[in-house]
Amino acid sequence: TDSTPATQVQWPHAKSAVAADPRVEARIAELLKQLTLEQKIGQMTQPDIRDVTPQDVKQYRLGSILNGGGAFPGNKKYAKASDWVALADRYYEASMDTSTGAPAIPIIWGTDAVHGHNNVVGATLFPHNIGLGAMNNPDLIEKIGAATAAEVAVTGLDWTFAPTVAAVRDERWGRTYEGYSEDPEIIRAYASKMVVGIQGAAGTPAFLDGNHVLATAKHFIGDGGTNLGVDRGNNVAPEQKLLEIHGQGYITSLEAGVQTVMASYNSWQGWKLHGHRYLLTDVLKNQMGFDGFIISDWDAIDEVQGCSKDKCADAVNAGVDMFMVPKDWKSFITNTVAQVKAGDIPESRIDDAVTRILRVKLRAGMFEKGKPSSRPLANKSELIGSPEHRAIARQAVSESLVLLKNRNGVLPLRREVKVLVAGEGADSIAKQAGGWTISWQGDGNTNKDFPGGTSIFAGIKAVAPNASLSVDGSFSDKPDVAIVVFGEDPYAEFMGNIKSIDYQGANGRDAALMTKLKAAGIPVVGVFLSGRPLWVNPELNASDAFVAAWLPGSEGGGVADVLFRNEQGGVNKDFKGKLSFSWPRSTDQFEINRNDPNYAPLFAYGFGLTYADKDTLGDDLPVASAE
Ligand code: BGC
Repeated sequence: TDSTPATQVQWPHAKSAVAADPRVEARIAELLKQLTLEQKIGQMTQPDIRDVTPQDVKQYRLGSILNGGGAFPGNKKYAKASDWVALADRYYEASMDTSTGAPAIPIIWGTDAVHGHNNVVGATLFPHNIGLGAMNNPDLIEKIGAATAAEVAVTGLDWTFAPTVAAVRDERWGRTYEGYSEDPEIIRAYASKMVVGIQGAAGTPAFLDGNHVLATAKHFIGDGGTNLGVDRGNNVAPEQKLLEIHGQGYITSLEAGVQTVMASYNSWQGWKLHGHRYLLTDVLKNQMGFDGFIISDWDAIDEVQGCSKDKCADAVNAGVDMFMVPKDWKSFITNTVAQVKAGDIPESRIDDAVTRILRVKLRAGMFEKGKPSSRPLANKSELIGSPEHRAIARQAVSESLVLLKNRNGVLPLRREVKVLVAGEGADSIAKQAGGWTISWQGDGNTNKDFPGGTSIFAGIKAVAPNASLSVDGSFSDKPDVAIVVFGEDPYAEFMGNIKSIDYQGANGRDAALMTKLKAAGIPVVGVFLSGRPLWVNPELNASDAFVAAWLPGSEGGGVADVLFRNEQGGVNKDFKGKLSFSWPRSTDQFEINRNDPNYAPLFAYGFGLTYADKDTLGDDLPVASAE
């Protein structure tokens, strides 16, 4: 069986800014000669840190570890930078221990720093990618990448599994918010800037120096275009569309010199990507010219036809170079050794995989960087959530807000007003931050888990001293205006898949609260926290002004920066955000995308009011859902 389609499309060669280096290649050849087959496969194996000891690293020459799903080993939620660094040292030292006779090969530790170093309490949490897409500011993206890399380096880690460069075509997908846009245009511009921010610019001394870490473009390919928006589902786009829509972020990531690409859980035309030799090897490596390594997704080989959790010759042969959490990893190594010996996997494929892994480690200077605690940013905990990083995040928040409605110019508000701040999101940084925050699902967090962070209410109170908080919207003294902050609760991956895009938050409670306030003669500003556009016609009707705030992260003060006037009474900051996703008019518009035939969303791609715009949207949008 062969994954090559009957007719094929030519994919562009993406010329990497990282120059080939003959000294690196010579060093790789030397190292390869010193490794046994079992040790080579060890390099190709990335267990979760919770399943592996430093002794294992020494014995098996494991190539990498990760802390998946967020937690520090032992679920030590409040682990300090020094705890991370001390642990990183232990694994690093084991990888450099040559007492078994194996050569020293530094291990690399990867993490999901997907909106800042989000597994670390106190880190700067940037808006999730959907908000950054609305911001449409590629230069700020590079600064966000650099700040994230610095915070990761402080903890002694080497690698982040970011950026996600998915083009999201169906908002029912639980990972919609991890994507910048439904359209490749912004993704192209952002992918390269984010890679440069995280890794440093290739060809300059900054490239993978002590301030930078390895980046990953993920999930290759077509993750955002599966049928019905089902996570890990099947993408049936013709190959030309796969290239034009889902492939664009990879082209620019590769050009910027991204060193790793993560394979996707999804299938293309019924064939799992982890076993897709045509797309992984013929397209990505050969045609596009990717010379770094392909990392699998978590325990993903289990989903490849004919494979199990610890055995998958098809994935190795298809071109996966490193295996994230094969369960159990020891039998994965034993099984893969046996498959090579039986001739099911050519040894040349193993050598190619290890060559790529060593190439990346050498380019990243891992052999010279020394142990994690000796690196320049190690333990500089003052950089975690530093004022400079938080200022970048706050700017990103303010630029990501999209004004969808502003009837009668309710906004901007004067600082003197008596403002009632209500809704479940009013004073919840956890809700602002969404999934991939401290824990995988972003659940179980409270404001005390975000030291240094600012809720939307706290940000408002700082500029408007007459603001008061009442989550349920009750008041005694009649307010001049109400801001209702509401929206989705945190989720990640398939846990966020939905069947309907009708926002049913709290069974209509948010709309009821807004309607009640409005009936009392109080102008209502709706601030919607969500990982995707949703059908919110009842809430739009019940509000005078409506702001899509996405998942802004830890710096809620960025909301007040735009909603409130400055001290002189003028506009402080105007709205800059423009939709990078089409906003649905009816509940059946979950798959509407820019440039579709018969495109008729409620708010089109690129929409976003400013204070200079006259808004004519009434309070009479249809409220019967389409099903
Ligand atoms: C996700 C990846 C992530 C990995 C490691 C997987 O479930 O699909 O995006 O990098 O877990 O946590």
